[in-house]
Amino acid sequence: MVTRRSYRFRQYTLKPDERADAEPTLFVMECVSCGFSGAKGEDAEDGSEWAVAHVKHHPDHLSYREHITRSYQFEPGEWQ
Ligand SMILES: [Zn+2]
Repeated sequence: MVTRRSYRFRQYTLKPDERADAEPTLFVMECVSCGFSGAKGEDAEDGSEWAVAHVKHHPDHLSYREHITRSYQFEPGEWQ
């Protein structure tokens, strides 16, 4: 015997979590040449400053990768 089931689906919208108690967005800059990273922090400028200081000591380390940790939250919407 085949039973038929129906399911209801809900629309969700994925958005950056901007609630007051959300985890802060964190930035860290990594040197692609040697894998060293600056300190993880809430200000992206700190990573840029770290990279400027790093390239002064390692003039051949010219490529960097910025890692951003950002919390997201699904916002429930209408049932369908
Ligand atoms: Zn490096």
